Amino acid sequence: MTNFNRSNNPHLITSTQAVAEAGYPSVEEYLATQGMDSVIIACCDEGCEVEPDGYCEHGCPSVIVAKGLI
Ligand SMILES: [Zn+2]
Repeated sequence: MTNFNRSNNPHLITSTQAVAEAGYPSVEEYLATQGMDSVIIACCDEGCEVEPDGYCEHGCPSVIVAKGLI
């Protein structure tokens, strides 16, 4: 479960890109600040937020799913 590439998903971005859009230098830094208590950023160019173990409406995983941390 490490390959989240969906060549047919134009919204999918990397976890690093996703947190960078929100102003964080890394996923680790984001989690240290935000925790995993509620919704977190998805790897989506629409700026979606999802359940920590979930996917957004565009089919993009949360950053911790993408990182393989959950
Ligand atoms: Zn999305």
